[in-house]
Amino acid sequence: MRIKMADPILTDASKARVMECLDRNWISTGPVVEEFESILADYCGVEHCVAMNNGTSTLHAMLLALGVGPGDEVVIPDITYISTLSVVLHVGARPVIVDTDPHTFNVTPDAIASGISDSTKAIITVDMKGMPVDFDGIKEVCEQRNILFLSDSAESLGASYKNKKVGGQALAHSFSFFANKNLTTGEGGCVTTNSGELANELRCIRNQGQSSRYIHARLGHNFRFNDVLASIGIDQVSSLDETLRSKERIALIYNDHINNGLNESIVKTPFIPDYVSQHSWYNYCLKYDSAGACQKVKNALTERNIEWRVSFPPLTSQPLLNSYDFRVLANTVQSSSLYESMLDIPCHSGLSTADINEIVSLCLI
Ligand SMILES: *Cc1c(COP(=O)(O)O)cnc(C)c1O
Repeated sequence: MRIKMADPILTDASKARVMECLDRNWISTGPVVEEFESILADYCGVEHCVAMNNGTSTLHAMLLALGVGPGDEVVIPDITYISTLSVVLHVGARPVIVDTDPHTFNVTPDAIASGISDSTKAIITVDMKGMPVDFDGIKEVCEQRNILFLSDSAESLGASYKNKKVGGQALAHSFSFFANKNLTTGEGGCVTTNSGELANELRCIRNQGQSSRYIHARLGHNFRFNDVLASIGIDQVSSLDETLRSKERIALIYNDHINNGLNESIVKTPFIPDYVSQHSWYNYCLKYDSAGACQKVKNALTERNIEWRVSFPPLTSQPLLNSYDFRVLANTVQSSSLYESMLDIPCHSGLSTADINEIVSLCLI
């Protein structure tokens, strides 16, 4: 591909940190992981950050730490990455799939409320494309019914909700540092929370449930992070706001050119509600008025060797669900047509003005 979807920036400073770590000859979990956690907790304005080996482990550990399991229901959105669903199945709970709003690509408080039953123990919202959900509205729904509010914020690190960084709005937020995320260490993830008790449980679970050496108080996993990757992570935190600014600069050019270029009924630029004070622009997503129009643009981009992504298919269309017990409240017709009309285009600082202009012209079929 000539123009790629993501272009991770690994600075000389991060390479130097990695070398320092290798020279110290301590490459498993150690002081650098702790330092990274503390820097990231400060960045997000939260008390605790617990780093793990990826953003699926973090979601899984959250459910285990809070005792979500068989007999419990967990409400999740129809359009999300598979992790949000798979962790619910892994702990033996029953997923309840609710609608994704076609304007924000996120769940609304009403959609969450529609999925709640007497068995609901937790909900997991997802900040799709890096845009925060309406945390306050959803928190109210959860507080009224005494339900745990968990957030899959894998895509929204650095984004702000009502002028506060994402990370402290729900009881716990899960982030991912996969290669295409705004902050990347190749693989990795973390949980942020203001609950010390939860943070301790998570630390125990990530390290095999160990309470003291080779004594295991509970069932755990090896979800540990390591000092080599944390060395890259520390550098990535310091450049995160700059990464976001350069992505936003491109997103705003796209908005401008695309809104001026064509009848708005054919393609829509991202809709951003007032409560979002900063989008992370993890993915810049266009919405076409038909699957056909969207497909034409996909073909045109491919022809010019420009990478693009479809959104995640609705969970309700995933074959793996057939082997499990679940409930669906989503309008599956709506989510499948939404999925076929959404298109993510490259949005990162590696794009030249000529690249941006070329992409815009191809998106305006
Ligand atoms: C990236 C991502 C994850 C976690 O991914 P890992 O590859 O396990 O780090 C989870 N949910 C969403 C919505 C994501 O985009």
